[in-house]
Amino acid sequence: MDKAQLEKLKKQELVVVRSLLKRQNEMLGQSLLLLDHLIYLQKSINLLSSREIFRALSEKLPYILSIKYFSLFLFDKSKRHLKLVCHNHPDLKTDFTIHYSESDIMRDALAGGRYILEQDFSRSRYYRGKKNPLFQCDFFVTLPLMVENEIVGAINLNDSEKGSFDVTDLDFALSAAEFLSLSVSNALLHEQTERLSVTDGLTGLTNHKQMQIFLKNELARSRRYNAPLSIAMLDVDHFKKVNDTYGHQKGDEILMELAHIMTRICRSNDVAARYGGEEFLLILPETPLPGAIHIVDRVREEMASTPFKSQGTEFHVTVSAGVGQYDPKIMTGGAEDLIKVCDHALYQAKEGGRNQTVKGNPDEALHA
Ligand code: GH3
Ligand code: MG
Ligand code: MG
Repeated sequence: MDKAQLEKLKKQELVVVRSLLKRQNEMLGQSLLLLDHLIYLQKSINLLSSREIFRALSEKLPYILSIKYFSLFLFDKSKRHLKLVCHNHPDLKTDFTIHYSESDIMRDALAGGRYILEQDFSRSRYYRGKKNPLFQCDFFVTLPLMVENEIVGAINLNDSEKGSFDVTDLDFALSAAEFLSLSVSNALLHEQTERLSVTDGLTGLTNHKQMQIFLKNELARSRRYNAPLSIAMLDVDHFKKVNDTYGHQKGDEILMELAHIMTRICRSNDVAARYGGEEFLLILPETPLPGAIHIVDRVREEMASTPFKSQGTEFHVTVSAGVGQYDPKIMTGGAEDLIKVCDHALYQAKEGGRNQTVKGNPDEALHA
């Protein structure tokens, strides 16, 4: 090789090296940009409630992942349901739940614990002869959301300005999905713990501790605005015998049914609480005594007419109730006095033959 040839080769080499360096620079710049986006997303969704996370995702995720549409489903392990909790498609209906076998794509992604990326939907094995009219582009991506080996849900990505989804896009989406899973699962766990600490595990009603807080607040509100407030104490009749005859599990079922009836009959401002065992308490704001008696009688009548079955026999269960209206002048001891009045009335309902509602008598109950 002569000198001229050598010079030419060197020049060519330089051009290649330069272009390689330029490409590397671009890639580095792109990586930094993606990293910046990732940090931005992480900051946006960390330590938020699930509702806030979903709102932040609707706003920011499409931009960050350079896609047009996404949908996020949460997985309910016990029911094997997928619930749509967040998306940004204007024509997709919200808040629906499907069994996970109803979506072949999500089912496969969740069962395999790995993403599914198809560049051309009509050529994929998920194609059923019809394109989804909601999306323009051919590609689709489904990413399972997982923490350790636990399935949190799945996220679907569709459409983009550039019309495709490449390896870099996928890599980035996978990283985003990883901490998205963590943030969503943390928020859900936190919310579940909060819910559990204020609700009764068996019936899902407000528990005793939380009921006391509600009652105290309602008493204060009633005093402040001179608004009527009534409460009712309900107790299942001969429940010990029911348990002994049909078993504890049947007993639990009866308590759950009573809770269900109470919730159904109550208005949105009322509070239905499990006082303890087979005793329940209703807090009825803005309700004078006659109104409270009416509500409690409806609960009582509905319970009495609900048939229960055990080993081929049908039986009915009744409840007794004591109702009282708050009177700050007489009930100087606050919630304690009001409960005492109801308790006394409940005792009279039992004495009077059960399956009845008795109106509280503060003079008698508090000065006995
Ligand atoms: P009364 O009509 O006078 O109220 O009689 P009772 O048998 O309902 O009253 P008692 O206080 O003698 O018995 C209450 C029973 O409620 C006893 C207890 O085992 C049962 N019980 C309390 N909590 C639960 C529960 O969570 N599940 C079930 N299955 N039973 C419960
Ligand atoms: Mg009791
Ligand atoms: Mg009882």
